[in-house]
Amino acid sequence: MAENRLGSSSAYAGGCMILTTKHAKSIAIGPPFWDKLNASVVEYVVNTDELGTFSGEIARVGDALECVRRKCEWSLERFGDKVEFALASEGSFGPHPGILFLPGDHEILYFIDRRHDFHLHLSLLSKETNYRMEMIDSVEALSQFAKMAKFPSHALILRPNDRNTRQPIFKGINSQAALEEAFIECKKFTVEGKVWIETDMRAQYNPSRMAVIRELSKKFASRLATHCPACDVPGWGAIGVEKGLLCSGCGGKTALIKHEIYGCTRCVYREVHQSTHGLEQADPGNCPYCNP
Ligand SMILES: [Zn+2]
Ligand SMILES: [Zn+2]
Repeated sequence: MAENRLGSSSAYAGGCMILTTKHAKSIAIGPPFWDKLNASVVEYVVNTDELGTFSGEIARVGDALECVRRKCEWSLERFGDKVEFALASEGSFGPHPGILFLPGDHEILYFIDRRHDFHLHLSLLSKETNYRMEMIDSVEALSQFAKMAKFPSHALILRPNDRNTRQPIFKGINSQAALEEAFIECKKFTVEGKVWIETDMRAQYNPSRMAVIRELSKKFASRLATHCPACDVPGWGAIGVEKGLLCSGCGGKTALIKHEIYGCTRCVYREVHQSTHGLEQADPGNCPYCNP
């Protein structure tokens, strides 16, 4: 479904979206919202650490979706009825579910629209991340890790021993001098000279992550520029899939996607669209009967 309300004809033209963030994410989220929707993104700077930190000092409460919705609600609680539109983002990192041995960055963007009365969230999984962590004990291993982690454009975190050490912890390390100093300092607190090093995943310290958030923001702004064909509320697009694409060999159902279901953020209107893979039938290689 193509965007049908871009720029000055957008439902958000001249509007102000309040983004709850501690990590300068308007750098990534602002431009696509301005380009497509003529809407401003203004930061509500708040310490989001109490919902969890990437470096593990505070465990995340609930899953990523609960966490990002919570952040979004903060600005509504803080500013009350003055806020019509609220935004927040949340990232998770770990093994990529589709590619063996590669890390992935999973980003969620959450939006609350009080004017049109809906919530909408979209997510994006990217392999474009430097996410890694390791225990090191030499200067050689330190520089090897730094190179792999795209340092110094991407910052690092160091602490003595292992990931469970809470103090001292050196975050946002983004210069060679600071890296060497942190390594020496950490060594003073270790038992066997082991230092734990990891990538700093906070957005303003991690340009790769900022780029993924920006990509997701483009997708999100496009979605808000697309209105429901039935009730004209913004946010029309894919809301789910129907599996069961038929096998070309035996005609039986496979686990592949048959259709994409498009839906509205407000009303019950739905449409069935062709799946993005464009296949009419499934290869027998994907069939549980032909290829058990
Ligand atoms: Zn078959
Ligand atoms: Zn609708």
